[in-house]
Amino acid sequence: MGNTNLVPFGLDGSSGEIISVEACDSGRTRYVCPDCKTPLIARKGNVRTWHFAHACQDIDDPRYVPCTAPFFSSLCSAARSYAESAANLSMKLAAYQDILQVRFDDGATLEQEYTVTNSRRVLLEHIHTGVSLYGVSFDLAGEVQGVQFCVYLTHPGRSFPAGSLQVPDDARFGAIEIHFDESFKKRFWHIARETGHLKQQVIEALADPARHASMKWLYHARKAKRSRDLRERLLHQHEAEVGRRKTQRYRCFNCTYEWVGEELPACPNCHVGALYISRLRPELSSG
Ligand SMILES: [Zn+2]
Ligand SMILES: [Zn+2]
Repeated sequence: MGNTNLVPFGLDGSSGEIISVEACDSGRTRYVCPDCKTPLIARKGNVRTWHFAHACQDIDDPRYVPCTAPFFSSLCSAARSYAESAANLSMKLAAYQDILQVRFDDGATLEQEYTVTNSRRVLLEHIHTGVSLYGVSFDLAGEVQGVQFCVYLTHPGRSFPAGSLQVPDDARFGAIEIHFDESFKKRFWHIARETGHLKQQVIEALADPARHASMKWLYHARKAKRSRDLRERLLHQHEAEVGRRKTQRYRCFNCTYEWVGEELPACPNCHVGALYISRLRPELSSG
């Protein structure tokens, strides 16, 4: 892939400032690759997409260490920097659906899908970066209507540390993962070529991650209660169903004997087989 080593955003090593190649003069710069810290050259020709290139690309040099994910590191640095300097960000969050598995006392099991939250637009306020919370170092942290809300950015080569997130019960906290993949990268450079927009694409991806990248819920404050309520409802339904089954009436058509309760393989009175046994319709209650 020709675009693999192209870098869209450079880092000012001393101030931590991020700059888009759009906003940079062509040629040697004081910016470095956010991933490997190699100095960057801004290439702004008429034919190729504007981009930063690593200044030393002498791959025969034994000191040369290839950058692992220059595009994605650069993108995530830009996302952190732009979000923090904006301080507030309107975000459209995807719905959160989960599956609850219930095992009843009698060994029966049930799986039911339920909605933790519908898709909605929120305002993430007081954004800052570099926050460690509940065992995870998040890229962005802020507040949504007074509730702590964090964002973790992932891409090929950086996944969410599953199992590290330890949130105490009923904490007022929410967290999502925004994932950038190879197809995002391809589209990014395509749009960059067509429109020249780089920074704007990062802002758009943060504002509507499900549409422009992909997004997954890591934690939702209401999930524990939603699943607890649903579990209780399902347990009650199951108990009622078991209770109904215990009051079922049966009749033997050989001897006309009737009984209430469990279905039996044979008539307890004349011992004929199940062929003669019929389940009676429950009598309509007057209530
Ligand atoms: Zn690099
Ligand atoms: Zn019978």
